[in-house]
Amino acid sequence: MKFFSTAGKVSGVSFEDAMLLGQAPDGGLFMPEEVPRIGSSLLAKWRGRPFSDVASLLAERWVGREIQGRVLYRLTREALNFKVPMRQVTDRIHVLELFHGPTCSFKDFGARWMARVMDYFLQRRNLKATVLVATSGDTGSAVAHAFHGLENISVIVLFPHKRVSPIQELQITSLRGNVTPVAIKGVFDDCQRLVKQAFADPDLHLLNLSSANSISIGRLLPQSFYYVYSALNLFDKGILFSVPSGNFGNLTGGLLANRMGIPVRCFIAATNVNDSVPRYLRNGTFKPRSTIATLSNAMDVGNPSNFARILSLNKNSHREITSRIVGYRVTDEQTLATIRNVYRSNGYLLDPHGAVGWSALMRHLRKNPGQKAESVLLETAHPAKFPEVIKRGIGIEPLQPKSLRNLTRNRKNVQHLPADYRNFKTWMRDTRPL
Ligand SMILES: *Cc1c(COP(=O)(O)O)cnc(C)c1O
Repeated sequence: MKFFSTAGKVSGVSFEDAMLLGQAPDGGLFMPEEVPRIGSSLLAKWRGRPFSDVASLLAERWVGREIQGRVLYRLTREALNFKVPMRQVTDRIHVLELFHGPTCSFKDFGARWMARVMDYFLQRRNLKATVLVATSGDTGSAVAHAFHGLENISVIVLFPHKRVSPIQELQITSLRGNVTPVAIKGVFDDCQRLVKQAFADPDLHLLNLSSANSISIGRLLPQSFYYVYSALNLFDKGILFSVPSGNFGNLTGGLLANRMGIPVRCFIAATNVNDSVPRYLRNGTFKPRSTIATLSNAMDVGNPSNFARILSLNKNSHREITSRIVGYRVTDEQTLATIRNVYRSNGYLLDPHGAVGWSALMRHLRKNPGQKAESVLLETAHPAKFPEVIKRGIGIEPLQPKSLRNLTRNRKNVQHLPADYRNFKTWMRDTRPL
């Protein structure tokens, strides 16, 4: 499989190079030059197989001969070794639970697959790398956990001291070994600035710095696997997918699955008040705005980077995009009301991100009463990651799953640094994590 850049100046790039580069050298994002087809007879044949099997079969079609089949199978099974249950909550609404990975958010799919594949490529080239990430919460914990214990990569996670949620901080700081958490005295933007400066600094080149950015093709591809998996059981129906969206990587994964051949009625782009994409769908102009903080904070993205991929997949045609995607904007009040109502009426507890998806789906179904499609809501996080919001919604805090209950802080491992580049650089050089 070869990849081209959405900025138009680069093409014919191997999966391995696209993966290790992250972003294309012309500043664009990598996209596949062709999409593998999965016909309805294959879908029928795969029905009933466990998720990790289906994921391995799909990975093989995307990666081709660049990784030996047997090896890719093992990497994919190790990465995606958790369940992906689909719960029927009403007679036509199914919730696909994407939060059963180790950090309880759907980011585990992309981060874990990417980590293993990257580690494998580095080992094959006899190289080591340092992954450097700045996080305001979910991404950092998913990335740190994904790379934890791998042999050829060490991870440095920068987070703003006392500015991530208590659970997120525990998730970041409980790891040892090849993961080093660094609490920066500052805000998220300070962390991001230090990371950018480090990448641009020739003195640090010997650390072979690498990002585990959400725009990496290695994170995007596995986000198409669970769409195909959910279609195996509903495949003759034409599905309506509701996707809680921020940076739009998840929804782009769905568009790729649709190109592979799964029958989709349409995608609902469910956003909070950071609604650049729903506004584009309405009036045809893409005008990013600065980010607004909301209760569904993993979707607080004013300028979603994967929008370039959506444009590229649809040849920049507004008409084509609106034939596949409809958009809805959901406020914090609507999010809280949805958590409360769905819990009371259906006995199902949504997290704030899933609640945005549910609210958008309901509005769409009310506007299109004749639509007979089965609906699948992608639930992207476990509600226990957001106890304060859930308490505001239903009055009680949710029960924690095992993976969140068993976290223990490992204070000794956490570094504390000021938001100052010279300091940070000296620390990086002295520490030499590899
Ligand atoms: C990152 C995230 C999203 C948004 O996904 P995108 O691919 O950025 O659109 C939604 N929900 C949760 C819980 C997330 O962590």
